[in-house]
Amino acid sequence: MGFFDFFKKKKKAKADEPKAAPAKEQPKAAAKAEAAAAPAPAAGKTGFTPYPAADLGELLPPAPAGGKIKIAIYWTAGCGGCDVSILDTNERVLTIAQFADIVMWPVATDGKEKDIEALDDGAITVSLINGAIRNSENEHMAKLLRKKSVLVVAYGTCAMFGGSPALANLVPGGASEILDYVYTKTPSSAAFQERYHKDAAVVPKTVIEVPEGTLTLPVVYDTVKTLDQVIDVDYYIPGCPPQQESISHLLKAVVDFVYNGVALPPKGAEIGVTEKCLCDECPRTKEYARITKIYEPYQVNVDPEKCLMDQGILCLGPATVGGCNAKCTKVGQPCRGCYGPTRLVQEHGASALTAIASLFPVLDDDPTCDEDQIIEIMKTVKDPLGYFYAYTLGKSLIKRTVVEEN
Ligand code: SF4
Ligand code: SF4
Ligand code: SF4
Repeated sequence: MGFFDFFKKKKKAKADEPKAAPAKEQPKAAAKAEAAAAPAPAAGKTGFTPYPAADLGELLPPAPAGGKIKIAIYWTAGCGGCDVSILDTNERVLTIAQFADIVMWPVATDGKEKDIEALDDGAITVSLINGAIRNSENEHMAKLLRKKSVLVVAYGTCAMFGGSPALANLVPGGASEILDYVYTKTPSSAAFQERYHKDAAVVPKTVIEVPEGTLTLPVVYDTVKTLDQVIDVDYYIPGCPPQQESISHLLKAVVDFVYNGVALPPKGAEIGVTEKCLCDECPRTKEYARITKIYEPYQVNVDPEKCLMDQGILCLGPATVGGCNAKCTKVGQPCRGCYGPTRLVQEHGASALTAIASLFPVLDDDPTCDEDQIIEIMKTVKDPLGYFYAYTLGKSLIKRTVVEEN
């Protein structure tokens, strides 16, 4: 059953229920007066104020008076993009060595787990951890770095919200179903098993005894978690990957703290975001046109000035916090929500659906669509959960796919 068929079924079940006494209807005149009193949507934008990068001033002076600090950068369940994004500090990445020893950064330096274990608790000033937590090694390293660090930053969308790895939570059979698929069902692995292990497929074990001793592999979890579902987190930086503006703010906060004793942002702060949604910093002109058909960007000749939603392209900008300078919408691609929701919203996908629902022509004075037609329109979204929760399923109230019994 499709995502939107579910609502159709619920609607039918509701229609079949015995009717309760009708609630007192709000007089239409009062409803219209209320609507009239609501602030009118902005007709469009004449200027675009980008979210600024922090002014980092001159290149850093030599080591701070108190001596160099220690920084660790670690990569759990992610794609590596967050690690690479740290290079967006451009030439300043070279000067980080002026004020910090990088004690761990697996992609670039040679710090080992045993080196971290040997440090005193709290010896690392700040650990940047990117990626979600999906196996026992991820969890072990996150806990180890937490113990050894004064500050831990959830760096990037996967660490903050689960990101795309958390979409694995939608697989009903969890880790065993995923591993079975990966090692026996994909065309290449199925061909491999057929050729070399026809009688019994060989799949990775988590523990094996060999003459030299016991070898182990991490245990894959059924549920992918966000970093703060596993350890205490001090700061958050969203983005897939975080943008240069955010990185500059983090670097400035650390440098100000190390060199000048300036207080760090309050615990729990999200760095590099605005107080408003992405639409507020998007340069496109928004007219709040009604949606009667949904298009993919490649299906239309995208107008470079008009809001993408006004052109029937689903954009998660109204439900996504600002801060990226509208990187995607400026080049004609809808926002997919990688910065996550605004501060007061937990359920990012539901918030986006609500914004979209407000654009269907179902008002008294514009009743083009009935509910069934809206369901038909929304059914053209091929992968609704994947679309509306591409980045934030790990923080969603939706935890897992449920297979309905008939
Ligand atoms: S947030 Fe994006 S760039 Fe960073 S690890 Fe996850 S998928 Fe990769
Ligand atoms: S809906 Fe998307 S394209 Fe339209 S103004 Fe908001 S961010 Fe820009
Ligand atoms: S426009 Fe949306 S998807 Fe693109 S970088 Fe910004 S927040 Fe992420």
